[in-house]
Amino acid sequence: MSQTEIQFCKECLYANTHPLGITFNDQGICSGCQIHKEKYELDWNERFKKLKKIAKNYKSNSKKNYDCIVPVSGGSESYFVLHIVKNILKLNPLLVSYNKYFNTELGIRNLSNLRIKFDCDIIIQNVNPNSVKKITKETLRNFGSIYWPCIAGQTVFPVQSAIDLKIPLIIWGAHQGTEQTGMFSHKHEVEMSRRYRKDHDLMGYEADDLLSSFNTLNEDDIWQYRYPDDYDVSRADVKGIYLSNYIPWDPKKQDELMIKKYQFKTSKNYRSFDTYDHVDCYNYHGIHDLLKLYKHGYSRVTDHATREIRHGRLNIKQAYSLVMKYEKKKIKYLNFFLDWMNIDQSAIDFILDFHKNPKFWHRKDWNRNKNMWRFNGLSKIRNFQSFDLKKNLVIEKKMNFISNDKISQETSKRYYVIGKGYP
Ligand SMILES: [Zn+2]
Repeated sequence: MSQTEIQFCKECLYANTHPLGITFNDQGICSGCQIHKEKYELDWNERFKKLKKIAKNYKSNSKKNYDCIVPVSGGSESYFVLHIVKNILKLNPLLVSYNKYFNTELGIRNLSNLRIKFDCDIIIQNVNPNSVKKITKETLRNFGSIYWPCIAGQTVFPVQSAIDLKIPLIIWGAHQGTEQTGMFSHKHEVEMSRRYRKDHDLMGYEADDLLSSFNTLNEDDIWQYRYPDDYDVSRADVKGIYLSNYIPWDPKKQDELMIKKYQFKTSKNYRSFDTYDHVDCYNYHGIHDLLKLYKHGYSRVTDHATREIRHGRLNIKQAYSLVMKYEKKKIKYLNFFLDWMNIDQSAIDFILDFHKNPKFWHRKDWNRNKNMWRFNGLSKIRNFQSFDLKKNLVIEKKMNFISNDKISQETSKRYYVIGKGYP
């Protein structure tokens, strides 16, 4: 695809290169922006009644089992989902959490606080670190992804638990395909599926596909990531619903309510203005986000800015200005990852360069040691030229994202092991 073939949305920052897939209407407005408008058009009282009806069907009268499963992490969305599930719908959930091993101290604190504030039981899956590292090495090298095991684990452990423990309802927060690119209307009430997980969450590779692709991995490494058989899922009648189909989803507003009501803690984010997103992980805004910039020509701050445009809190010029401030900021905490993976700087540099998409990165042949790569990502191609540091500070102040704690490299020397409790 050449630059001239890249089509941008007239209203937000997304282009037709979006990895989840995006379409445009005759007015040049993307599917994500079109579906977002449903948040102002649908009868959400009616939709919430539908959710209540589902909840009622699963409420156990015997009180001998949990009513549903809620997948959680030390992130902000877990709080909001539990707020709705436990305190509004009055269900008794079992929390399940997959340990992704990149935990910040703040994430551990938020997860512990969550269990106490909502008075819930939790089960945590700790897959043996050797297998996680072996898989991470392969997916990093071959797909430019360090997050495959995290996403695979987060999306499958709740389903395995639902079957094993006979708790057939799983309640998730937002459906990313609907939220970002308008893949489905809210009215479709799309549910969790093996197909979506494979195609979009896991980049087309389920656990068994890794096994057949990489001879370094064996059955012992991948079995925990295997989605249960269709037969088992349907026999246990497992259903996974997304709250964003029943509540007009607004992460900023929701997270601020969680800060106020349940003392969710946040941290200044060195690669975005959003101080609520993924404060539980050292790598999400670090190497994971850098790989996104290399492969797709934009980083997480573009997702944040697009979301804020759609909610009417930024205009497109302000959004671009913030993207340009943050998208190429140097990443932190890479040393933790290198230590954990036992690889050195030159190896990671080689892998990172390998995943630079030539659509968005041009290699200069001259002056080999300095500025070898020229960035030609989405913000550059669109060429808004609106970066203004002073104005940015005013915009950020006005948006008023709260940071009431901090993630710091100085106080932390490595990833935190989950389950040690807090403090
Ligand atoms: Zn759009």
